[in-house]
Amino acid sequence: MSENIEKIKCLIIGSGPAGYAAAIYAARADLKPVIYTGLEPGGQLTTTTEVDNYPGYPEGVDGTMMMEDFKKQAERFDTDVRYGMVTKVDFSDKVGGIHKVIVDGAKEIEAQTVIISTGATAKYLGLPSEERLKGGGVSACATCDGFFYKGQDVIVVGGGDTAAEEATYLAKLCKKVTLLVRRGEMRASKAMQHRVNTTENLEVMYFTELDEVLGDQVVEGVRVVNNQTGEKQEIEVTGVFIAIGHKPNTDLFKGILDMDESGYLITKGKSTKTKLPGIFAAGDVQDKEYRQAITAAGSGCMAALDAERYLAALE
Ligand code: FAD
Ligand code: NAP
Repeated sequence: MSENIEKIKCLIIGSGPAGYAAAIYAARADLKPVIYTGLEPGGQLTTTTEVDNYPGYPEGVDGTMMMEDFKKQAERFDTDVRYGMVTKVDFSDKVGGIHKVIVDGAKEIEAQTVIISTGATAKYLGLPSEERLKGGGVSACATCDGFFYKGQDVIVVGGGDTAAEEATYLAKLCKKVTLLVRRGEMRASKAMQHRVNTTENLEVMYFTELDEVLGDQVVEGVRVVNNQTGEKQEIEVTGVFIAIGHKPNTDLFKGILDMDESGYLITKGKSTKTKLPGIFAAGDVQDKEYRQAITAAGSGCMAALDAERYLAALE
């Protein structure tokens, strides 16, 4: 049995900007990284069209094409890119210990270092019309897609800091922003609420929920419902931004690694080190604050450097 177990220096879980950036650095440091792509090869950016804010693409770039570039660059240095999902981990708590990982419920790998870059998934409401119009006016990222709604009317759903931030960001670009808050008050911090309340072209509708997104190919409006009176009304908008939180993809590490109350992995100080030696975390999986491709790629680089230094110290 044990001769079937593959032994490697560096395993990278997840193929978004963090995973591929880590792979480029780890491969160039001769760690011979193996990367497992998971169910979404290329990560979250493959769900969007235009990426306009990643440096190095002056004309903007299609999200899927950009991630294909990341993959090619990682492969140029002999990263072993594999399709597969890590389904179980058994991490050592000893310095220099071997970390065991199972892929697709069958294949066993023993790695000296593991870089976790499994990302986070934006939560959606679960309406069929919302699902149908994703990419056609329904988005979960104002920083990414807001630009396309310049001078237009949009709605934002949510009452937390993210919703407040997205709504005030959009208000700078759009003609009018309507924020739908399901309770009679926002969960957002007082400072963010103040920002919302003092933004002129931003209207808050309390006790209001999204009932349906209207439109065939693209968003043409929304039907909202007051959850106190049951009264429904239609609002003409071209963009719908869902900002009800993100869920980090960390179920696999529950009870093994430290997480905050939302499930984001906790790393030490400015590093990507988790509480276990040889286990590093990069990208959205450990970042609830910035959640951008550039910051994810940056921390992927950091994780590979941390892994390289960890291995060097063992020699
Ligand atoms: P992700 O991109 O989330 O990648 C996670 C990877 O982990 C995936 O490959 C997944 O398959 C894999 N994975 C998960 N679990 C497992 C497992 N058990 N085993 C193996 N693999 C696993 N940011 C910008 O800077 N600019 C933009 O224009 C922009 N547009 C966006 C548009 C949309 C619609 C969305 C949703 C996000 C957008 N973002 C944008 C944010 C950006 O996509 C993220 O910040 C970035 O992708 C995070 O990178 P990551 O590598 O941490 O994780
Ligand atoms: P959050 O704090 O969990 O807020 C989610 C919001 O979405 C809540 O208002 C919630 O309503 C609402 N919501 C959830 N499900 C909904 C549904 N099905 N329909 C309608 N509304 C729904 O998430 P977040 O805003 O993403 O913030 C996450 C964390 O990051 C927080 O700790 C936040 O402080 C932090 N953050 C900070 C900043 C900043 O400091 N600038 C910016 C962004 C995020 P209820 O209130 O009714 O539950």
